[in-house]
Amino acid sequence: MSKQVENSSHNEAFRDSLSTVKADGERNWVYPKKVKGFFYKWRTYLSWLLLGFLFAGPFLTIGGKTFLLLNIFERRFVIFGQVFWPQDTHILLFLLLILILFIILFTVVFGRVFCGWACPQTLFMEMVFRKIEYWIEGDANQQRKLNAMSWNREKILKKGAKMVIFVLISLLIAHLVMAYLIGVEKTFQTISGPPTDNVTGFVGLMAFTGIFLFVFTWFREQVCTVVCPYGRLQGVLLDTNSINVSYDYVRGEPRGKIKKHTVEESPKGDCIDCTLCVQVCPTGIDIRNGVQMECVNCTACIDACDEVMLKVDRPTGLIRYASENSIKEGHQKLLTPRVMGYSLVLLLLIGAFIGLLVTRTALSATITRFRGMTYQERTDGQISNLYEVTFINKTFGPQNVQVRAVDERYSIEATGEGNWEMEGQSKLEGRFFLVMDAQAVAQINEKVKLQLLQNGEVIDEIETNFMAPLPKKND
Ligand code: SF4
Ligand code: SF4
Repeated sequence: MSKQVENSSHNEAFRDSLSTVKADGERNWVYPKKVKGFFYKWRTYLSWLLLGFLFAGPFLTIGGKTFLLLNIFERRFVIFGQVFWPQDTHILLFLLLILILFIILFTVVFGRVFCGWACPQTLFMEMVFRKIEYWIEGDANQQRKLNAMSWNREKILKKGAKMVIFVLISLLIAHLVMAYLIGVEKTFQTISGPPTDNVTGFVGLMAFTGIFLFVFTWFREQVCTVVCPYGRLQGVLLDTNSINVSYDYVRGEPRGKIKKHTVEESPKGDCIDCTLCVQVCPTGIDIRNGVQMECVNCTACIDACDEVMLKVDRPTGLIRYASENSIKEGHQKLLTPRVMGYSLVLLLLIGAFIGLLVTRTALSATITRFRGMTYQERTDGQISNLYEVTFINKTFGPQNVQVRAVDERYSIEATGEGNWEMEGQSKLEGRFFLVMDAQAVAQINEKVKLQLLQNGEVIDEIETNFMAPLPKKND
């Protein structure tokens, strides 16, 4: 039987269960062995860079403006210094579509490389919390022993120290998330006063801290294997040309113990079945079973296997970044029709997004009649309607804004006579009356055109309704 056929007839029973759940439903705690090697070294360097960037993010500015703010409460987002207001939802939707398509395209070609190298969950879990755990409790076997032993001085000290550090880091991450949501200044305001001054902020911080502590102390790899929707999508995104962390079964099988510098009668494959690749896996899977949804492409098994291969004098790369087809047929195909199709749609979306961004108005306004009110009849024989106006200044500079009726029968009554000064990147909410002589009323519900002026220049025209009683006929 050829090696390929052997692999295709491989027992697929492993797909029926999760490596982290025992047959009786109990959690199968994963104790990944410490790993070292080329990929781990570069992942560590990259993690320093990305974590540094993540923590610096809320403080970064572009031309004096926040670099990134995701204020979901006020639906105000600042991305690379560009402010997006609720009125820009359609542009944000495009941005979201582009992001989703980019992720799909990237995944189709490069698999879950993001999960292993750049996802904040992996960065914090593997490069922060796990390292602290190794430092305090030791490698996998020592951790197993510590967990199995009864509570004594050593266990209390080690577990206590770890928990204190984990709580502090979770608190720090919670503050970071808050800074991304409401901005650095408001976060400092929230934490500088007593909790009673800002109960919502305090509760939010505690809730985030609790969630992070739960995730990084207990839930761990299950975020990737059970919860993360991106992980669940792998089944439909990946195909046989996608590059993943893969085991070269053509070279590796039949697996079995081999001795260095020996030629056996029936030669075995290069896999010596040492299971080190399984022992280092943070999601507890055996990559030799093939591509699995639980694999976050962390490369730990590559490093572990390369070290083994060097020891047994075989070429490294038995586990490597490769597609199923490249292992089976020996060549890698990157530009498939699927990739080209996605790329084309992505380019179109990017073009449309740039177009929307360039043509979006610098100033926007919404005008609505005051709810629950019809009209007011004044003693001087005039009729008025009350309106609410919201201006959004998307520019970085101050602006003068004004509302004016096109029809000269109407006049505007407001603070400053419908003439407002706005700060850059700000929102202004105001009210004004539209006033008309009762004798000039032609209909009980009349369409009225209002002009929006920016620094004295008309930039938009908004239509609204004016309600009035029909004029009384003079005898
Ligand atoms: S580490 Fe390499 S040699 Fe060892 S079991 Fe895994 S694939 Fe086989
Ligand atoms: S199989 Fe390898 S790459 Fe995938 S999660 Fe496990 S160790 Fe990481």
